[in-house]
Amino acid sequence: MIPEHWNPQTPPLEVIQWALEHYPDLIITSAFNLNGVVLLELAAQAGYTGEVVFVDTGYHFPETLETRDRLSARYTQMRFVTLSAGLPPDPWGQERFRSDPDGCCNARKVAPLRAYLSQKNPSALLNARSRDQASTRQGLDFLEPGQRLRINPLAYWHRAQLEAFAQKHQLFVNPLYWSGFLSIGCWPCTRAVRPGEEARAGRWSGRGKTECGLWQGEQAL
Ligand code: SF4
Repeated sequence: MIPEHWNPQTPPLEVIQWALEHYPDLIITSAFNLNGVVLLELAAQAGYTGEVVFVDTGYHFPETLETRDRLSARYTQMRFVTLSAGLPPDPWGQERFRSDPDGCCNARKVAPLRAYLSQKNPSALLNARSRDQASTRQGLDFLEPGQRLRINPLAYWHRAQLEAFAQKHQLFVNPLYWSGFLSIGCWPCTRAVRPGEEARAGRWSGRGKTECGLWQGEQAL
């Protein structure tokens, strides 16, 4: 399915242009980290005017919500959609993100997005994951089968390339990023990374969990 001439040096913009041509109903999902900001700019350059879907778990940093708002003000040709499970913070009264982080992610993040996608039924998802975010993502390629096709234009870009691109295009990056939060999720489950750690080392640190479940596992999209 991958065009024969594609290789790790294929520009992400070319991948996005191909994706829009072959899957015009695709949807972007984003948490607006560095990768996501770069993806949106590239998608804008490719002429994307579809939806950008974000799941508000109720536990996001204020800086993340500010980033979302700044991006929606910049890319007015796209429709920013914020989903929510509608759950109040910690309705179980026992900090479920500590006792059952998989269940918390399923309830607050995976379930709302799965429900939305079941209703919209796009043929593909465009997302911003890259290999160098984590050792568990080393096998990521431009195209990835799932419940529906996932297209990963940034699969082979490194952090330095992403930062250079963001600076060149004067993109607003979540301020926490520059304080060592190289991957940013919910505040109870994210810390800044230490020198030498991979980008996602600060997610669910010390809890034996590396993914929220959107992209891996039984409930994956
Ligand atoms: Fe809950 Fe943490 Fe998952 Fe956010 S990242 S949904 S707080 S377990």
